[in-house]
Amino acid sequence: MNRGRLVIAGGGPVGLVSALLLRPYFAQVTVLERNAAEAAGGRSLQLVLGERGLHALRCCGLDQQVKAQGVPVYGRMDGETGAFTPYGASDDAILAVSRVALQSILEQAVDGLEGIERRSAVTVTGVDRTAKNVHCDTPLGPEILGYDMLIGADGVRSVVAESILEEEEVTLDKLPLVYREVPVANVGWRSDAFVYWSDGEVMVGSFPGKEGRRGLFVMHPRGAEHLLFNEGNTGLFARFPGLAFLGNTLLEALSAANAGAMGSKTCARWTSDEVVIIGDAAHAIVPFMGQGLNTGLEDAVCLMRQFRSSSASPCDEVLRRFARRRQAPADAIRRLSDRHARHLMGVASAVDVALEERAGAALHAVGMPDTYAACAFSRNRFDRILSAEWRAMKLEIPVHSRVA
Ligand SMILES: Cc1cc2nc3c(=O)[nH]c(=O)nc-3n(C[C@H](O)[C@H](O)[C@H](O)COP(=O)(O)OP(=O)(O)OC[C@H]3O[C@@H](n4cnc5c(N)ncnc54)[C@H](O)[C@@H]3O)c2cc1C
Repeated sequence: MNRGRLVIAGGGPVGLVSALLLRPYFAQVTVLERNAAEAAGGRSLQLVLGERGLHALRCCGLDQQVKAQGVPVYGRMDGETGAFTPYGASDDAILAVSRVALQSILEQAVDGLEGIERRSAVTVTGVDRTAKNVHCDTPLGPEILGYDMLIGADGVRSVVAESILEEEEVTLDKLPLVYREVPVANVGWRSDAFVYWSDGEVMVGSFPGKEGRRGLFVMHPRGAEHLLFNEGNTGLFARFPGLAFLGNTLLEALSAANAGAMGSKTCARWTSDEVVIIGDAAHAIVPFMGQGLNTGLEDAVCLMRQFRSSSASPCDEVLRRFARRRQAPADAIRRLSDRHARHLMGVASAVDVALEERAGAALHAVGMPDTYAACAFSRNRFDRILSAEWRAMKLEIPVHSRVA
């Protein structure tokens, strides 16, 4: 069934992968991106991809190309003690890849395909669902574009989400922490490990990159920069002496780096008529499990599957089915990420610790080393992983976490 014109607002990774996967089901796909540079930068320098993200790239025929640009990471290393904990079985690795490299591979793939048009410097300003039009600002002035289906892949501040949701249907939870990341090189840390330091208030982490380069990020309380980025006794090096060899150059780079906010977004509905929101537009999470993009890419695969298996169904019905399938997993990974945040920041409660231990044992019995590994190295639904934890604790599964 030829479904006419698909318009995708947002040319970030989720918008581009959606374009690649959905192209066979539409006569024309148009991707509208307000600012190509912003699509690549502004947040973490690197992204980690697990099995979910890699599977989506495999569906696009791009996994090998992305793997060639990335570095496999087998576990986490405590920066002060040097203790290494593998993420999973000996050959289980997440892939650390530069955000810019990933974006560039996806853009090239989209540009090389007939039937997809990618337009830069086009900002979606509004949606008229009655007329099925998208309103845009372009370098040549305002423009109105018709659609048969519209995907909002326009990130956490999604204009498309605003067009389908009432204010009270969106929950934004902001952490009192900010994130900054700078490049470092030849620091001598294990090239196959995520290295981290944490004291319950500030966390420093570093994923390896290509040729001895790494990203080094700091998550710290908003407003604490003047205390942290100096060599005094409240500074970063007093907290984490293992970083002191990086000297003033690191402190200057960190204080000059842009600070990004961290938080989560939940939307009560993801679709209305022929409009759907996916990726961060529909569900943003704190980055501690490294699953935000992985979850968005999994959305794109699920959406493609719904179209593949429902060739005769009306578009709005396919979109409702998609949303029903994806909302519970997205909610589950938000909860799991919040808990993992407390664990990595060193502020896990006794209940969190007990839950992780018992859930770990239960998941182990079904062949998964622990919750993190189950999320990173399998495509088991996040809500089922969460339910397995509740069962392990012999607790009643809350109604909203139950899945059919
Ligand atoms: C510090 C940090 C670290 C992270 N690390 C990881 C990680 O390791 N692994 C992981 O899986 N996830 C990670 N994430 C999450 C990940 O960055 C996001 O989940 C992912 O970028 C979402 O992709 P997206 O395409 O949905 O949205 P975005 O990447 O936000 O892309 C949206 C695109 O839409 C464009 N846009 C926005 N509004 C408009 C408009 N009105 N008109 C036209 N275009 C518009 C934007 O310019 C942008 O290009 C991290 C997030 C943060 C903050």
